[in-house]
Formats: sequence, structure tokens, C-alpha cells
Amino acid sequence: MSNFKFILGLDIGGTKVEVSLIKLYEEKKEELIQFTTDKSHSYSLEIIDTRRIPTERDNGYEDVVKRIAGLVNSVLSSNEITVSDISSLGIGLPGSVDPSTQQMLKGNTNIFVGNDLKQDLLKALDAHFDVEIENDANCFALAESLSGSGQKHRDSTGVEFQEETSVGIILGTGVGGGILISGRLLKGKKGGGAEIGHTQLISKGFDCYCGRKGCVEQYLSGPGFKQFFTSKSPTMAEDPPSTKDIFKMAEENNPAAIKMINEYQDLLVQFLANLNNILDPDYFVLGGGLSNQDLIYKGLEEKLYKQTFLKESRPKVYQNTLGDSAGGVGAALLPFIEKVILK
Ligand SMILES: [Zn+2]
Repeated sequence: MSNFKFILGLDIGGTKVEVSLIKLYEEKKEELIQFTTDKSHSYSLEIIDTRRIPTERDNGYEDVVKRIAGLVNSVLSSNEITVSDISSLGIGLPGSVDPSTQQMLKGNTNIFVGNDLKQDLLKALDAHFDVEIENDANCFALAESLSGSGQKHRDSTGVEFQEETSVGIILGTGVGGGILISGRLLKGKKGGGAEIGHTQLISKGFDCYCGRKGCVEQYLSGPGFKQFFTSKSPTMAEDPPSTKDIFKMAEENNPAAIKMINEYQDLLVQFLANLNNILDPDYFVLGGGLSNQDLIYKGLEEKLYKQTFLKESRPKVYQNTLGDSAGGVGAALLPFIEKVILK
């Protein structure tokens, strides 16, 4: 009798769609990604196969659904399994997803807005398994808190998953966030919860596409970092170095680059401190391109502690451990968390 299930995760973005075929074991297996939810429940994940295609959203919704179904079928047939072997499918979308209808209401890839992706994909696959759809940053937060950095935290503290509060933050093309409280994603009334990239960091700051000024995303995302840098260094505005180059320059002791990264980190501290004083989370996990730069973590927890109201609670900030797999893993774990852990 096998003690595993096949689950699927789809990480759908504006530029690419990635599918992950995962074996979920109800036991600890040393060589795999392991996690425990409480003292008597341990699991392991084995990512069997991952493959991606370009979204090509300009071709329209129906074409995208057809090609996603083709992608799923190709990963199944290469691994000699069929849709009837799959227990569930989770999908991460780049926008706010209404928890009651599972449809995307707003995001950067408008073709999904107002469409019933769950039903359309089940139909295209001729499948009947459970499907859950969530915002992609929520998928990142779920993956990292359940099976990534959060597991390391629980190993060292003994806290259980359903007792903890955690915040996952993507510092990437934009700034997205996911908040888990007692093992549950904070969704809000219509799925607009944890849109932390659109909270104000700088009064009268840069205009944001959301209509506000000085949003976190305009400073702490990759493009925001560059925008902030060129506003401070007008001489470099014509031909600005890439974000990676600025970090490299700082490592080589370039004073302008060091100053810039310090200012970036100060803003990151302000952002985290605001969240910390609202939530007092067990930990933060950072993902996205900028989270791979070691310099942003230098002295970060100490600076954050100085801004913490409750001095008995020391903030913890982790770098992600799942890397690019987090989106697909988090998506795949959505039905699991709804039907197994929180049942
Ligand atoms: Zn905004």
C-alpha cells in the first residue's frame, strides 16, 4: 500500500507558466523536503518533474488554458501517470483571488480576470480532482512557512505550524506578500488581504500604478531599487547599472553603492517594523531576486529589533530555502492545507 499522493502545482505568471508534479508522503523521508505540522504529523515532498512554457497572454484566455492543459498532460504522460492518479491541483495566479468564487479579480495578467479557470481547466483536462486557486505571493508564503524556512524555525523552537504567525515577502518585479495566522492564509473579504506592497512607505513618494504615492513596491522591488538609485544618483540616470551590478560594486567597497544599499535596507527595516508591530510574527521569510543578495541581511534583525515595540519579542528574518520551486510547491500544497491540515 503506497503512502503517497501525487499532487500538482501550477505557478502562473505574466511571462511563464510552470507545472510541478509532486509526490507527497505522509512520513518523514530523510532525502526529501520534510515538514511537520504538529507533533504527530510529518510529511515529505518529492518534486518529480517541473517544466515551464511561456504564458503568451496576448493569445487570449482560451489559448492559454489549452496550452496549460497540454503542459499538464505532457508532464503526466512523461511520468507514465494519468489524471486519475492525481489527488489535487493548486494554482497560483498573479493577482487577488476572490476566496468565495476562486476567480481572479485584479492583477497584472488581465486575461484571467472574470474567468472560471478552475472549471475551464478541469474540463480541458477531463479531470475531477480538487482544485484551489490563490494569489502567487500567498503560495510563496505557504510553501516557505510550511516546508521551507518555517520548518527550520520549528525545528529550532518547537513551535507548531498551527500556532505560528509568519509573513512571506517577495522582493521581485513587484513586492507581494502572504500572511499566515495559525496555519491559515489571511485572505480578507475578497482576496485583497496581505497586499503589503501597496502600503505607503514614503509620504509624497513615487507614483504607483495602483493610484497611491510612495508604495513599498516603488522602493523595495527590483525596478523600485533601480528607480530609487537613479533618483539619488542623477549622474548615473542616463545609463544606470543593473541591481546586481550595484550589489557587486558595494562588495568591492564602492561608497555610492554602499550608501544606496544602506538606504534600501533602512527602508526595508521600516517596512518590516510596521508589519512587525501589527503582527508580532514568529518570523519573516524573504523571496524574489533581491532576497538573494546577502548584503540586505547584514545587521537587519538588529536594526529591526531597535524598531520593535515589544522588546521581549525578537524579530527573525529568513532567506527563503525553496528558491524558484516555492511558487509551484505552495500552489500544490493549497488543497492539502485546506482539506488535510485545517479540516
Ligand atoms: Zn501601489
